[in-house]
Amino acid sequence: MTNLLNNYLSGQWQTGATAVHTLFDPVTGEALATTGGAAPGLKEGFTFARTEGARALQAMTYAQRATMLSEAVKLMQGKRDEYYAISLANSGTIKADSGVDIDGGLFTLGYYAQLGMALGEAHVLTDGAAAIMSKDQLFQSQHVMVPIKGLALFINAFNFPSWGLWEKAGPALLSGVPVVIKPATATAWLTHRMVADVIAAGILPAGALSIVCGSSHGLLDALTPFDVLSFTGSADTAALLRSHPAVARESVRINIEADSLNSTILGEDVAPGSAAFDLFVDNLVRDMTIKSGQRCTAPRRALVPKQLFHAVAEATAGKLAAIRVGNPRNAETMMGSLVSRAQYDSVQEGLVKLKTESSVLFDGSAQPLLDADSKSACVAPTLLGIRDVDQSKLVHEHEVFGPVSSLLGYRDTAHAIEIAHRGLGSLVASVYSEDPALLAHAAHELAASHGRVHLVSPDVGKTHTGHGNVMPASNHGGPGRAGGGEELGGLRALNFYHRRSAIQGSSVALAELTKSASPYTV
Ligand code: NAP
Repeated sequence: MTNLLNNYLSGQWQTGATAVHTLFDPVTGEALATTGGAAPGLKEGFTFARTEGARALQAMTYAQRATMLSEAVKLMQGKRDEYYAISLANSGTIKADSGVDIDGGLFTLGYYAQLGMALGEAHVLTDGAAAIMSKDQLFQSQHVMVPIKGLALFINAFNFPSWGLWEKAGPALLSGVPVVIKPATATAWLTHRMVADVIAAGILPAGALSIVCGSSHGLLDALTPFDVLSFTGSADTAALLRSHPAVARESVRINIEADSLNSTILGEDVAPGSAAFDLFVDNLVRDMTIKSGQRCTAPRRALVPKQLFHAVAEATAGKLAAIRVGNPRNAETMMGSLVSRAQYDSVQEGLVKLKTESSVLFDGSAQPLLDADSKSACVAPTLLGIRDVDQSKLVHEHEVFGPVSSLLGYRDTAHAIEIAHRGLGSLVASVYSEDPALLAHAAHELAASHGRVHLVSPDVGKTHTGHGNVMPASNHGGPGRAGGGEELGGLRALNFYHRRSAIQGSSVALAELTKSASPYTV
């Protein structure tokens, strides 16, 4: 095995590193690739991105940068088969789950290319209309948005090596901001291959895209005040990053997506066997098992009216029993493995913890794995249940990052909303009901503690995009425990990569400044 994932900094591949970390196939245990240790030349590489990369990107208009993104999408679409093969080997995912990451990433990048075309040949965005500040109306104040003067450092999680990169890089590059990506080591291969392909094609100017694989050592020390940092991962690492002097003292702008105890709620109006009931169960099973539950948006807590607890448990268990788990190379496998043995251990530990306050409603581990053994990172789905919700604690605090969800019985809608809030801020909550008034009330109550509220009634049963799917037009992020971040949401994503400044002066000068600007309308 010679596949060493080199770093790309200062417009050059840095060869000759000594292998320090190894990436494995989580099903077979085969070693696939290696990364080096602490990256040399970070400070110089970051300076190169901030100067050469930013200069070239910011000389272009939004439409020109959008064209560049479209070309990158086209290039990578031609290489999808290679990406699917890497995903299968390194993430242990079945084809559909690899698609969520790979095609989801390219779709999101393409979406930002389209939004960018609409911004046209502008270098500046206007934010709102000018405010008149003098009696003669000549002296005015116009808010404008210009790209930040620094770079965007992305420190990403292991579960989305493609989507996690492109959902951030799309808005950043469209804004004219150079990107440095540090993928999670366990699944860095796919990110590395995509970045290498885009770089080799010469689509982006030198310094626009850099990659650091392996150790994160020194990354934050290389940041300067006008840079931005976007992190996806655990709350513990997030806390470390927040306290780093670059963030705490030099005001490096930071966006964090961390743990999230998302809820899915079955409305109290819903009858067993009704369309809304079936939609709830179908989607719960899908969201628990897509990517083996390794999605930050997966519903960890399923809230159902107490009187429907058994009906939902039975229906959900019946569907989970049909999920065949194992090697994604076997065509009958419906759910592949977790990304690593470390994650396998973490899920087992989490299950032990949650079981101290819950009972097991379904445990798929009695079924044999398909073409995989007990040394693989395959985990069967588990549905836990808590009848006495008011006494529960851990289920609202501990995220088990795997195919695990807990059924919680609630008394009435107010109780359900109170339980959802016990997650202390989440990425998403979904509500299933046939009553528009109940849906509207729940949305209003949940919005302050959730970055997204997903309402499902039978009329949108076939067309809704799914509780767990993050669509680029909608906000992704959540307050409190979820990290306090905001990503995507259409053009709103550009906010993070721009500096808003109030320009005060004569309306004549302001007109000159904004004559080829585009409005930032979200
Ligand atoms: P993690 O240990 O926090 O790692 C996330 C990223 O941070 C990786 O790239 C990691 O690099 C890097 N990192 C680790 N220590 C660092 C440090 N001291 N300084 C700078 N970077 C550092 O998280 P994980 O355990 O891999 O991720 C799993 C958890 O993330 C899940 O349990 C889930 O709760 C959360 N998650 C949240 C979301 C979301 O959008 N909300 C999405 C996915 C995952 P290495 O890989 O090289 O260590």
